Amino acid sequence: MTSLSPLLKQATPVVVDHASGSWIHATDGREYLDFTTGIGVTSTGHCHPRVVEAAREQTGRIIHAQYTTVMHKPLLELTDKLGAVLPSSLDSVFYANSGSEAVEAAIRLARMATGRPNIVVFQGGFHGRTVAAASLTTAGTRFSAGFAPLMSGVHMAPFPYAFRYGWDEDAAVEFALRELDYLLVSRVAPNDTAAFLIEPVLGDGGYLPTPPAFLEGLRERADRHGIKLILDEVQAGCGRTGRFWGHQFSSVVPDILVTAKGIASGFPISAIAAPVALMSKGWPGSQGGTYGGNAVAAAAGCATLDVIRDEELVENARLRGDQLADGLRVLQHKHPVIGNIRGLGLMQGLEFVTAAGDPDAATTTAVQQATTRHELLTLTCGPAGNVLRLIPALVVTEHEIDLGLERLALALADATN
Ligand code: PMP
Repeated sequence: MTSLSPLLKQATPVVVDHASGSWIHATDGREYLDFTTGIGVTSTGHCHPRVVEAAREQTGRIIHAQYTTVMHKPLLELTDKLGAVLPSSLDSVFYANSGSEAVEAAIRLARMATGRPNIVVFQGGFHGRTVAAASLTTAGTRFSAGFAPLMSGVHMAPFPYAFRYGWDEDAAVEFALRELDYLLVSRVAPNDTAAFLIEPVLGDGGYLPTPPAFLEGLRERADRHGIKLILDEVQAGCGRTGRFWGHQFSSVVPDILVTAKGIASGFPISAIAAPVALMSKGWPGSQGGTYGGNAVAAAAGCATLDVIRDEELVENARLRGDQLADGLRVLQHKHPVIGNIRGLGLMQGLEFVTAAGDPDAATTTAVQQATTRHELLTLTCGPAGNVLRLIPALVVTEHEIDLGLERLALALADATN
């Protein structure tokens, strides 16, 4: 009998029958409150009626209108709608299917535009699974071990990870910027450097918001040296942080913005946005793909952006995120194994540490598995696997956050007794 590949590692044994809003209904009849949203994808909740209808309607018109052959209405509309939420300087959009592909598109564009080879990434960043994207990923050796050689020209600088260093945020930012400057004089010449690539909130690398002062320091250095600043908004974008884009907590505007996941509520589509003058540094046909900018996915993307606007989901993410963070802090008082709680909006992480302050992956895994038993779906992350991440849908209600906190409290009690 054929089986699914053992290459897959599954966080839960749940088999879904159907899902709606914040809820997953399993084939065994159990009902799970979903604080994973398909790893931050189903932004408008599972099967939002307007997203379902838009996709259904488009499926009856044309499914695959290949965008290098014929253009289609949903992609033109999606581009207009993105224009309403993107920083105004990023007035040109290129579409792909996944986050990894879009990250690759951004890297290619930065290299083509500058004629420079090097990319500087920041420790703990996750940028995808393709070989090039994995080369840019430092969120865990599990994402690249065993299949070297990776893409060349990638250099890693420290991330201002205040909790890990036991410092306050200002000290961590000062340290990380000083180390970046040292990298730029010791190993990676600015004139050979195409881009800095960073997430506004480290996702798979541990749910760590990037301090605004660090982003501002990167922007200043990028401007000084003609280096492009690429912000990977794949996980932090589309309202998740309580702002439409994760970087909007700072004054920084990137040269290239990468988006995917939440943009289409579960349909595979991704994009990069940049000034048209920068996009023009690549030549027509230098990027593309068979499925990029799929018509059904684009229609779902249009409906998603409409729902986020009409239902004021960015504001809901902020309010419900504050409620969640408050509740988590109460749990932290009872469970000293939770060393640190951090996040923005509906992107919250709990870092578990031993009494000696070392990463406690065993407890993290035990808590994650216990949440499943209590019908709350959660995920772990972080290079050491010691961060529990909570990623509710942007439509999550006040009652659902309370319920999630109750179930998490039960799971913590189970796993730590
Ligand atoms: N960048 C970030 C910040 C991500 O979180 C992810 C996915 N977790 C990716 C890139 C890769 O996206 P995909 O899995 O769609 O290739």
